[in-house]
Amino acid sequence: MDLDDTPDEASFRAEVRGWLAAHKPHDLTELSSVAAIRDLPDVAPALEWSAKLAEAGYAGITWPAEHGGRGAPLSYQAIFLEEAAAMDAPVHLGGIGLNMIGPTIIEYGTPEQKQHLAHILDGSEIWCQGFSEPGAGSDLAGVRTRATLDGDHYVINGQKVWSSFAHIAQWCMLLVRSEAGSERHRGLTMILVDLDLPGVEIRPIRELTGDAVFNEVFYNDVRVPVSHVLGAVGDGWNVAMTTLGHERATLGFSLVGSLEALLRRAVALVAEVGVSDPLLLDRLAAEVVEVEALKLTNRRFLATLEDGAVPGAEGSAIKLRWSLANQRLTSLIFDMLGPAAVAAPEEWRYQRFRSRANTIEAGTNEVLRGILAERVLGLPRSR
Ligand SMILES: Cc1cc2nc3c(=O)[nH]c(=O)nc-3n(C[C@H](O)[C@H](O)[C@H](O)COP(=O)(O)OP(=O)(O)OC[C@H]3O[C@@H](n4cnc5c(N)ncnc54)[C@H](O)[C@@H]3O)c2cc1C
Repeated sequence: MDLDDTPDEASFRAEVRGWLAAHKPHDLTELSSVAAIRDLPDVAPALEWSAKLAEAGYAGITWPAEHGGRGAPLSYQAIFLEEAAAMDAPVHLGGIGLNMIGPTIIEYGTPEQKQHLAHILDGSEIWCQGFSEPGAGSDLAGVRTRATLDGDHYVINGQKVWSSFAHIAQWCMLLVRSEAGSERHRGLTMILVDLDLPGVEIRPIRELTGDAVFNEVFYNDVRVPVSHVLGAVGDGWNVAMTTLGHERATLGFSLVGSLEALLRRAVALVAEVGVSDPLLLDRLAAEVVEVEALKLTNRRFLATLEDGAVPGAEGSAIKLRWSLANQRLTSLIFDMLGPAAVAAPEEWRYQRFRSRANTIEAGTNEVLRGILAERVLGLPRSR
């Protein structure tokens, strides 16, 4: 495995760095790549930045050129994410559409559905992912939201929860049970839903951080044309797994890039507040080692993906280790601040609270440990 950029990758990295230095807005801190996306007082500047990223070819880096992407290998996406995090550049507002939903539409979509792709790229359509329900989270096969065929429409009834960005989204990729009486993975269908349709009710949920970025979404007799089914009727489970596979492919690079940026700030804090306690410095040193190990694991993951493997256990290991490292680091920063923590910048408090969700979103740590136990260690199934 070669850890250095190829000459082409190095020149792409220099191009990205130069472009971000010239164009990065300084007033879009709600979209910082180091923190998660926050409440936006006004989405207009965020949409403008998303459109600018698309125009410069930095949205959909791995998407095929025929769908408006750059058609570049995953390593280019990784380079962009690393550089953006290093400069704390704002992210594209439509990350869920770009990284998860767009690639799924490319794989399963009809020509009519593929018309959405250009809008996902430039941010003119924000999408959300409607998978989780009150009784279906880790166990996604428990989905109960129903879709009943009525002529050339499906009528949708049910409730989703934790739908990130639904309150600012126009569209949702929704997993529904289309076959009455079916169980588990069978009888599920993926459908694209316009959130402006009558019967859709979106209720933001306020988080520990004080922000309200995810939502409960209620579907009451929502009539969606049959032509909006993504993939085959009844094949929703496979479509959902494709989406989650895309999430895992590049998630590690944005996570570890932002962790490294946070680590750099923590190291700067040592001099700023004069940390001399050897136990605190020892904890900080351990995080430096952890970040290096995660970066190397990311490289190994990338090498296996470029060899054609499907995203596997490395993705789970990176997400698990990153979530714990981010929680430790945000706590360590408060310990280093000591009494000054009372007057800590709002951003530090936000990061610390937000890090609690890291061990739940995109697969809980218990579930990820289960995956590693079964698929890496070969232990018997736990259930
Ligand atoms: C910030 C954030 C954003 C999110 N955004 C979205 C989104 O946009 N769209 C969406 O659809 N969902 C989203 N989610 C939901 C997320 O996918 C679920 O919260 C997650 O899958 C866990 O499901 P759950 O909350 O129902 O918990 P449960 O699955 O009910 O889990 C409860 C507890 O039981 C444990 N547990 C469950 N199963 C097992 C097992 N087999 N072995 C061991 N322990 C187990 C879990 O680890 C957890 O501790 C988001 C969540 C967060 C926190």
